[in-house]
Formats: sequence, C-alpha cells, structure tokens
Amino acid sequence: MIDVTLKHTPAGEAARPQETPDAEQSEFSSDSTRAQCISCGHQGLEPILDLGRMPRSDGLLEAIGPAQTETLVPLRLGYCPGCTLVQLLETRPAEEMFGDDYVYFSSYSEDLLKHSRENAEELIRTHGLGPDSLVAEIASNDGYMLQNFQAQGIQVLGIDPASQPARAAREKGIETVVDFFGTRVAAGLRAQGKRADVIIANNVVAHVADQNDLVAGMADLLADNGTVVVEFPYVRDMIDFIEFDTIYHEHLCYFSAGSAKALFERHGLYLNDVRRLPIHGGSLRLYFSKCAAVTDAVQGILAEEHALGLDRFEYYKTFGARVRAFRDQARKLVGTLKADGKRIAAYGAAAKGTIMLNFLNLNDRAIEYAVDKNIHKQGKYMPGVRIRIDEPEKLMQDKPDYVMILPWNFRDEIIRQQRAFLEAGGKFVVPIPDLEIVSAPEQDSSR
Ligand SMILES: [Zn+2]
Repeated sequence: MIDVTLKHTPAGEAARPQETPDAEQSEFSSDSTRAQCISCGHQGLEPILDLGRMPRSDGLLEAIGPAQTETLVPLRLGYCPGCTLVQLLETRPAEEMFGDDYVYFSSYSEDLLKHSRENAEELIRTHGLGPDSLVAEIASNDGYMLQNFQAQGIQVLGIDPASQPARAAREKGIETVVDFFGTRVAAGLRAQGKRADVIIANNVVAHVADQNDLVAGMADLLADNGTVVVEFPYVRDMIDFIEFDTIYHEHLCYFSAGSAKALFERHGLYLNDVRRLPIHGGSLRLYFSKCAAVTDAVQGILAEEHALGLDRFEYYKTFGARVRAFRDQARKLVGTLKADGKRIAAYGAAAKGTIMLNFLNLNDRAIEYAVDKNIHKQGKYMPGVRIRIDEPEKLMQDKPDYVMILPWNFRDEIIRQQRAFLEAGGKFVVPIPDLEIVSAPEQDSSR
C-alpha cells in the first residue's frame, strides 16, 4: 500500500490533472501482478480501473485550514482469474473506517427503512420465525433492520464495530455487541449458547478484509437448519451502468453470484436462492444454508453470468475507458453551467459523493456547498474536495440553480423530499446512470 499525504489544493486553484500517464499504467499492471485475492488467495490480479489517490470516503473534516493534510490512498480495481472476484488492490485499516467516528446512520433513509421492513416481514413469514427464534445481524448499525423482528417478539442480536450507531440501537432495546464479527466473536456467542436461525449481513461482506474468517464465523453461529441472507451491490450492474462511485476503500470487493458462491461454499454454506434488487443501483440478495437445495433461480443466474462473461476478464476490460469518458462528459457539463453563471450545490455528503467529486475533481469553486440530512455531518467538510456541508433547508433559502444528487441510488426519495426546490425553478443533476438534468414538469394547461 502506498500512503501519500498531500496538502489540499487551496480553493480557487486549478484542479489537479487527472489523466493517468503511461508510467502509472505500467505501475498499475505490475502492482496487480503482485496482489493476492482477498477470497481465494490467488496471486496476481488483472488490472481493471485506476481511480487515482483518494481520501477516506467517510472521513469528513471538522474544519479546514491551509496546514491540514489528508492521507490519500490509491483506489484501484482488479479481477481475480482464480475465483472471478472483482476487488481493490489496496485498502485502509478497518478501525480507521468503521471505528468511533463512523457516523453513517441507516435510519436516515426512508427507502432503506422500507426495504428492510419488507425483507424482515418476508423472512418472518417464510422461515416461520417466532419468540424462540434468534435473528442475528452483522453490521446492525442503529438497529434499523432488527427492530422489525423485535417488534414481532423475535429475539435479536446485533453485532457492529461502530460504537455511535450501536448506542442508538441499544437505546431501542436491541442487544448489540460492539466488535468486528468473525470466528472469535462467533465462538464467544456459541459459548453463551447462542445459535442463530437467521443471520443477516447486508452490505458487509465486501467491507471485511478477512472474508474467510467472517464467513466461517457465520457458519459457526448459524443453527444447522438456519439461513444466512446477504446483500451487496451486484458487480454486473456496477459495470453495465458505470457506477464507479460504488468503488471506495471500504468496499474491498464487488461480488457476482458466482464469486460469492465460491467464498461461502468454501465454508460449507451453499447458495440456495437468489434475487436481484433495485436498491443501491442494483443489488443481489443471496440465501445460504448448510444443506444444498439449489433453486432454479440460482441455476438461472449462474448460467446468465457465464453467458455474459462475468467469469472472464474480457467483461471488465473496457470499464476503465468508459469511466474516464463519463468523467470528461460530466466535467464538460459542469464547466458549461459555470460558464453560464449558474450556481451549483450538491445533495448528500456520503461515500459515493466523495468518490464522485474527487474523481471529477470538482472542489468548492465548482460546487459551492453540499447539504445532508444527517446532523452529524452538518458543519463539516467533504474529504479531499473540502466542500462544506449544510442542512437541506439551505436549498430553499439560497436557491442555487442546480443541485447534483450524489447518492443517486436514493434519487427518487431525495427529489420527493425536495419538490419545493424543483417547483421554485431549481434543477437537479443526477450523474448516474445517464448524467440527467431533472426539472419540474411543465404546468398542466388543462388545470
Ligand atoms: Zn480469487
């Protein structure tokens, strides 16, 4: 891992050039050759995409000053020819990313709450869960998922290393272990006589460096007839829709059904069912059990992945060029708007936004400020680009001409909440999948 600490480019100074010189390309190739697969241990990855050196995606800054430095770490993506898993070449320490200052609270998103509630209701119904059942969740955050089971009288147990969201969960009465889950924690829970009928791990497997220990821990904690349910963004959607801002240091890898199956089966957990979901720009929900009972859906998606080539490097080969073409197009749009004297703000200071703005190299000269519902983020600054974060109400008071929606995966929810801004003549820029401008529909003349 190369750690580079750079002083911030002062606001107003020209953005640093982002083109990758040939020397860096060959460095990318040679570093890929030396990298080892996070899942199967295969030595040597195929290089897919180099996003350059990036700050910590959730590392909001309390204040900014000329002397302040940020650690920038390369963000590069490769493909494992051993198990087909797409993954990062380098990462940052887990304690840095998910420790005490991790302030993402799942309960801030209405759509995520609804998605979780529906998932819980289905699991309760299909698995006949009741007061004797135990549902464990890894990365349980503020209890947004487990509260649905708890409300039905089902026993719940959360496990999450981030202490702030865990405290919020405990305040709801949800027992939460503050720790990194793996075989060590699983052994401790088993010693207390705990076996889980359902283990939920949404958007977490890809965040963990020792994936084999994590999945082995799930197998240890799971009752013999239990089910592990996992969700993660589907690598196929990420590649097809150029969702490069899904790539950040916290996301160590990007699964297909095939590469996830390889990881879980190594630990005696069989992929028995699968569902494609629209959430987060396209996700997979996979169901694993200790006995194989493979559904047609699983056979179907594996056949589809093979036919499309997700298990071969060629499928990923053009991704880098497509991402760079998007950057040129998006920068051109912002440049045109600024040349017209338009004022631009951004909505949603989450990880995706950090990657998007830093990769496009849009600092506070281009984007005047960002707004975010999360009060823990307000008053701070986005990493790298150092854009100030204010409360969403500012949009109606200040009325910028355009607002770029950074968490485009929640676009409908955000546009719904900000309807007044649209109706007052404001416009939204939605970068992905189509770099779209959204304005209020024309007045209906029949009324
Ligand atoms: Zn591998």
